[in-house]
Amino acid sequence: MRASINLGRVGGVPVGLNISVLVIVAILVVGLGFGRFPVEYPGLPLAVYLLAAVVTALLFLASLLAHELAHALVARRHGIGVSGITLWLLGGVAQLTGEARTPGADLRIAAVGPATSLAAAALFGLVAWGLGAAGIAPLVTGMFVYLGIVNVLLAVFNLIPAAPLDGGRVLRAVLWARWGDRVRAAITAANAGRTFGYALVVLGFLLVFTGPGFQGLWLALIGWFLVNAASAEEQQARLGAALHGIRVGDVMSRSPVTAAPTETVAGLIDRVVMRERLSTYPLVDEFGGFRGLVTLNRIREVPPEQRPLTLLADIACPPGEVPSARPGDGLLDLMRAMSGFPDGRAVVFDDDGRLVGLVTPSDITRALQTADLRAPYAAPHGADLTVLGPEERRAEAVRRGEGR
Ligand SMILES: [Zn+2]
Repeated sequence: MRASINLGRVGGVPVGLNISVLVIVAILVVGLGFGRFPVEYPGLPLAVYLLAAVVTALLFLASLLAHELAHALVARRHGIGVSGITLWLLGGVAQLTGEARTPGADLRIAAVGPATSLAAAALFGLVAWGLGAAGIAPLVTGMFVYLGIVNVLLAVFNLIPAAPLDGGRVLRAVLWARWGDRVRAAITAANAGRTFGYALVVLGFLLVFTGPGFQGLWLALIGWFLVNAASAEEQQARLGAALHGIRVGDVMSRSPVTAAPTETVAGLIDRVVMRERLSTYPLVDEFGGFRGLVTLNRIREVPPEQRPLTLLADIACPPGEVPSARPGDGLLDLMRAMSGFPDGRAVVFDDDGRLVGLVTPSDITRALQTADLRAPYAAPHGADLTVLGPEERRAEAVRRGEGR
């Protein structure tokens, strides 16, 4: 989910809106401004109802954001990176860059979201009660009553034990703790999610044919989203099992063909592009320092007449925007890190910061194709899945004779 509008950082976490979130705002503004508010608090000008509806919609988005921030901050406390939070059509998404290492962490990261929504409901309820007691305009009190109710519904819906809802992750954590097998727990939670999603789709279409058509379509849409997300989650769990224990050094292309940042595009084409079947050229300066990454796509974008005049450094993806790893890092961690980068390639450095390899899409495809040819791995039982910290990884790499 990409953010179309950046709202800056909250607690160090980048927060953004996807343009589709406007649909939520529109539904709330129309439903409240033309429906609920004029019916319950009659006798006011339309502009007042609309203003109240807009403010309510914005406060609702703020409470959604609080729910996602809670997930993000607890994940970070458990050592999991957070690349950002995006609000969109069906609510919020907190994008984590790793997985919980223990069932307990998994449980806390999931449960804190609904807990925050309940806390928000209590807060809105308290404000409504205070405003009511002080005799403030009933419409304003009504806004906070509505926000309280919506946040309770949000918490309850999210606690349904169906992945990818928070309740599904709670289920996964509980089963993981009981069975000691994260993959099996994740697949069971995903199956529950898919079943629940299909049930919502069926219920939604029943509603369409029996009356409240819009709510029915909305429910069917949410159901369909859950079915897809649950399937993706199951796939991810299976992928994690297949690539379990595979290190970057096992799959990287070693000793890549490099180029100097001062070489021209035409020079590189003459020297290697026409001779070798490579799609990625790291730039390395005369001191061995990594200076960026040039791909075939970037070379093709230079018009032919410009190629003798354009330096590789001018078209390279700068070093700061190329994901990197060490040979001893887990491949899954790197793939997760790479998903946020457009070029789909990573560079591999040894302990002295020298470029020793590349990971390209074809390396990853090959790793996936050969995953089941590898010696059977020990089933990931509980603590066995613990992701090594950087220090442990380095020690492991040295033990395996890599990165030297
Ligand atoms: Zn949540």
